[in-house]
Amino acid sequence: MLSEFDLIARYFTRPLRPGSPAALGVGDDCALLAPSPGMHLAISTDMLVEGRHFFAGADPFQLGHKCLAVNLSDLAAMGATPLAFTLALALPAPDEAWLAPFAQGLLALADRHGCELIGGDTTKGPLTISITVFGEVPQDQALRRSGARPGDDIWVSGSLGDARLALAGLRGERILDAARLDEAAPRLHAPTPRLDLGLALRGLASAAIDVSDGLAGDLGHILRQSGVGAVIDVDALPAGPMLASEPPVLQREYGLAGGDDYELCFTADPARRDAVLDAARAAATPVTRIGAIQATPGLRLTDGAGRPTRIAQTSFDHFASP
Ligand code: ADP
Ligand code: MG
Repeated sequence: MLSEFDLIARYFTRPLRPGSPAALGVGDDCALLAPSPGMHLAISTDMLVEGRHFFAGADPFQLGHKCLAVNLSDLAAMGATPLAFTLALALPAPDEAWLAPFAQGLLALADRHGCELIGGDTTKGPLTISITVFGEVPQDQALRRSGARPGDDIWVSGSLGDARLALAGLRGERILDAARLDEAAPRLHAPTPRLDLGLALRGLASAAIDVSDGLAGDLGHILRQSGVGAVIDVDALPAGPMLASEPPVLQREYGLAGGDDYELCFTADPARRDAVLDAARAAATPVTRIGAIQATPGLRLTDGAGRPTRIAQTSFDHFASP
């Protein structure tokens, strides 16, 4: 059987690439990271637990991708560029048929973004994957949740709700034919972190967050931390291509409260609309204007004709759900 140290050496140890921001990687008591002068380190941790964040028996390649993608998404939301990450792994057994594709999915995404695996911890236990990612952002340019101002536009990248639709199909909450489920499932299993957009929004967005628990709930964090409110046009929400052919009521519900979208929701001065669209084009990431920040606290919804609308919206909360 593979020992803990063989496993680390075989799957998670690679030579540092030339120009790496890491001065020392896997193998010592600590890794050493050399951030550039004038930069803040941006640090975030996200943990994925089997049976809670992914189904038992989930495809290991996709899981490797997803556990890093959700962390990179936090860097994107901050306008930070990735440097490196650590990986804490609890495994029931050192199963190479699982470890090899897991490491491939993980490291393929890491290589795409020049994000070096510099250390971690490995132990026996129920399958749990915890990643801490390190990025950098010029001092005072991080996109924070607290900067939204009344009158700002509210934007969202890409599309919403297809991940939630795939989850509904897999759980049997909705009947989805196999072809449609195959189309929607990558949005759930292999999200794309919007790093290029986050970078392009530096100096442009007044606030930003990544949409992991549902747009309404995540926008709510911007509103609370900025001390403002908002109005959203629920008919302007960009439904994912699969969700777009579902009933309008489901499009609204999954668009507002779906979860697992990993899009960026951000605010910007309306005087900068053209600049936002240019930034989105430069990042090859579509963006849609969905509403406006208002001085009165709370989130108000309207339909496309501007009529007030109510939706039984919830955002995902691990301690509020069974
Ligand atoms: P320590 O006992 O000092 O915590 P470990 O024996 O746990 O060290 O780990 C040995 C080395 O392997 C360390 O550099 C650690 O960062 C690295 N490491 C352990 N697990 C992983 C992992 N899953 N991925 C990457 N590096 C790891
Ligand atoms: Mg250790």
